[in-house]
Amino acid sequence: MGEQKRIWLSSPTMHGEEMAYIQEAFDKNWVAPLGFNVDGFEQEMRTYLGDMHALALTAGTAALHLAVKLAGVKPGDRVFCTDTTFAATVNPISYEGGEQVFIDCERDTWNMDPKALELAFAKYPDTKVVMLAHLYGTPAKMDEICAICEQHGAVLIEDAAEALAAQYRGRKAGTFGTYAVLSFNGNKIITTSGGGMLLTKEKQARDKAFFWSTQARENLPWYEHKEIGYNYRMSNIVAGIGRGQLLHLQEHRDKKEAIYRRYEAALADLPVKMNPYEADTVPNFWLSCITIDEEAMAVCDPEKLRLALAAENIESRPLWKPMHLQPVFALRDFISAEGDVGSDLFRRGLCLPSDVKMTEAEQDMVIALIRSCFA
Ligand SMILES: *Cc1c(COP(=O)(O)O)cnc(C)c1O
Repeated sequence: MGEQKRIWLSSPTMHGEEMAYIQEAFDKNWVAPLGFNVDGFEQEMRTYLGDMHALALTAGTAALHLAVKLAGVKPGDRVFCTDTTFAATVNPISYEGGEQVFIDCERDTWNMDPKALELAFAKYPDTKVVMLAHLYGTPAKMDEICAICEQHGAVLIEDAAEALAAQYRGRKAGTFGTYAVLSFNGNKIITTSGGGMLLTKEKQARDKAFFWSTQARENLPWYEHKEIGYNYRMSNIVAGIGRGQLLHLQEHRDKKEAIYRRYEAALADLPVKMNPYEADTVPNFWLSCITIDEEAMAVCDPEKLRLALAAENIESRPLWKPMHLQPVFALRDFISAEGDVGSDLFRRGLCLPSDVKMTEAEQDMVIALIRSCFA
C-alpha cells in the first residue's frame, strides 16, 4: 500500500455550520426524533425543491419503503424497476411482498430505457407502479418515462438518492414522482451521516407516511394501534447536520462537476467514455465514471485498473451490478429493448474517485494511473 492518504470515491465533507445546529439542539436539550432541526431541514428542503411536502427519515431506504406503501403495493403486485441501480432502490418492494420486474437501461443516460418500459407494459398491462432511479446523479429521460406512466395510469416513485441538485429540462430531480426519495448517507452529495427524506406533492400522503414512521399511533392519550408502524423518523441531531450541509449543496455540486470536467479533458484521447447525459439536463455529477471501449479491454479492463488504483490507496468501484444478475432476484423477469445494456456497462465500467475534498494534484495522480493502464 502507498504511504499517501486515501483518495475516496465520495466521502463526507463537513463545513462547520453543521456543528452550530447540533450545538443548538444540545443547548436546548432537544435531541429527540423531532424538533426544530427536523422541522427546519424539511422546510429548507421544501423551499429548495418547490412545492414538495417533505418528511425527514432515518434513511433513504426507509423513505423508499414508505413510498412503496403509499403507492399501495400489495403481495404479488408487479413493480417495474430500474435494473442498474443500488439494491436499496428495489428491496422495499420485497418488504411489501411485491414482485420486481427489472427494466434495462439505455446508453444515453444509463437510466431506465423508455422503450423497454413500453415493452414491459405490453407484457404486464395491469402494472400500476414504476420505480425509477437517476443513476450517479444523471437525470433519466423523464418526458418519455412520465408520458408512459400517465398513459398506463401508473404511479411513479422517483429514487433521487443520488441526484439531489440535478435538473432535467429546468426541473429539479425529486419533483417528478408522485413520491420521491432522497438519501443523506455518508457517500451522497450531502450527508447527515445517515438519513433520508420522502417527498410528495400530496399533503395527505405526507401525513400518512408521518403516521407510519412514528409507530402508527392513533390520536388517543394511550397507545392505540390499528396499523403496523415503523420507527423511521430522523432525529433532531441528525437533521442539524443536514441543515448545515444544505448550505453547501451547490458548492458540492460545482466541485463534482469540476472533477468530471477534468477527467473528461484528461482522458479524451484514451479509449474510454465518461458517463453520458442528455444536452438539456444538468447532472449533479455525484460520481464520475468511465466505460472502457471494447477493443481496449484486452489492454486495460476495469478490474486491472481498479487494482492499480487500490495499490496506491485510491478507491474506485465497478458500476452497480444490475439487479437481474443478482442471485437474490434470480426468479424475477428482466425486460430489455436492445440486448442487456446494463450487463455490458457493468462489464466495461468503473466509478472513479469523485470526492469533494480531492485536490487537483490528487486527481492528477488518478489520471496518471489511468493513462499508464492503457500505455
Ligand atoms: C444510497 C442509495 C439509496 C439508499 O439510501 P440510504 O440512505 O443509504 O438508505 C437508495 N437508492 C439509491 C439509488 C442510492 O444510491
